Parts: sequence; structure tokens; C-alpha cells
Amino acid sequence: MAEWLLHAARTRGPHGHLGSIPSPGVFLYQKTYKKLFLWVFMFTLPKLPYAFDALEPFIDAKTMEIHHGRHHQGYVDKLNKALEKYPKLQKNFAEDLIKSLDVVPEDIRTAVRNNGGGHVNHSFFWLILKKGVEPKGEILKAINKKFKGIDNFKEEFKNKATGLFGSGWCWLILNNGELEIMTMPNQDNPISQNKTPILGIDVWEHAYYLKYQNRRPEYVDAFFNIINWEQVNENYLKARK
Ligand code: MN
Repeated sequence: MAEWLLHAARTRGPHGHLGSIPSPGVFLYQKTYKKLFLWVFMFTLPKLPYAFDALEPFIDAKTMEIHHGRHHQGYVDKLNKALEKYPKLQKNFAEDLIKSLDVVPEDIRTAVRNNGGGHVNHSFFWLILKKGVEPKGEILKAINKKFKGIDNFKEEFKNKATGLFGSGWCWLILNNGELEIMTMPNQDNPISQNKTPILGIDVWEHAYYLKYQNRRPEYVDAFFNIINWEQVNENYLKARK
């Protein structure tokens, strides 16, 4: 497209042709248009695909309610707030924003990293939780091969998850076709390093403190009872493509 047209579109939106000084009506229109645009592309809290008490007794209903309704909602709200100044960025998937943080303007980069990461991580997390699913499928084969058995995998995963200092996540990821366990601080996600998450545990205290207080190892043990291995297998198959 011609450069002048792009310039006109950027500076005066759809009414660029009306002249260099738009009427007050055009300003109002543009303001409304921008609001509508922001509203359409706003990030929203995904519905929890089960009841708050569905993971009892491993994760209690109160923790789920606060974790989803307040913490995750908080990340969504702050991400939207950060992007208000840059409505064009709002059209991206949150995953794409945290994959290419270097193209996010510097004044909102940290906010997008933390809150976009928070939104992506928690949206991923809710889906990999379900009671009563046994490890199975290609992911079980791959884990057995890589870690010499599911028990060894759990041990290594638990060691890393409990060993992470402060807040963050422990991830099972696919890196150049290889399964690996890694931790990341805060709300950082492996996709920022071009690695694909298959499974992850939130080890921020808000994820377990009400029930487990400072006993993170117990929370990690409980987590092994509520892994939705069907979803994890799907994540693995998708990552391998
Ligand atoms: Mn969390």
C-alpha cells in the first residue's frame, strides 16, 4: 500500500479523506471506534472447565476459586490495561506477544511479560488438571524412554519444582524434539525461549498456600494425582508436529 495512504490511515483512521482537521463528530466517532475495537479484542478470563471443587482433596475449592477468579483475572485485566495504549497489539494472541517480547514497546514490555505470561500460563494450567486420569499414550512412551520410567520422571520433576526459589513454574517441555524438565521464574513461559510446554505446575504460593502452607513438596505430590494425561498427551502430539 502506498506510504501516504498508510500514513493517513495511521494518523486519521477511516476518516482521513475528510481533511486534515477532522470535525468534533469525527473525533467522537474515532474514540468510540477505538473503544469498540479494544472491547472486541480484549483478553478475557477463560471459563474454568470444571467446578471449583472438582480437584478436591488435592486442590481445595477455595484455592481454585481465588486462583482462577482473582489471580488469573488480575493478569487478564493488567494485560488489557497495558495494551490500551497500543490497541494494534491487542489483536495478537497472548502467546505471540510473549514469544516475541522484543517487538513489544519497551514501556509495556515488563507488564506484557508478567501479565501476558500469567494469562497464557494459567489458561494452559487449568486444562491439564483432571482427577483420575492415568498416564498413557505417546507421552507415556516418551517419558519412559527419556526418564527411564514414570517414577523417575516424577522424582526429577518434584526435585526441580520444590527446588525453585521463590515464585515460578516447573515445566515439562519439548526442546528440539527432546523432553526436558525446566523451571522458570515468575510468569515466564518456555515459549519465549522457543521451547514448547507439555505440562507445568504453578509453584507460586497462591497456588497452594491455603491448604499446604509452606509444604510445597506435598502440593507437588498432590499434583501428580490430578494431571490430565489425555490433555498432556495431546500437547505432546501437537508439539511434535
Ligand atoms: Mn497462579
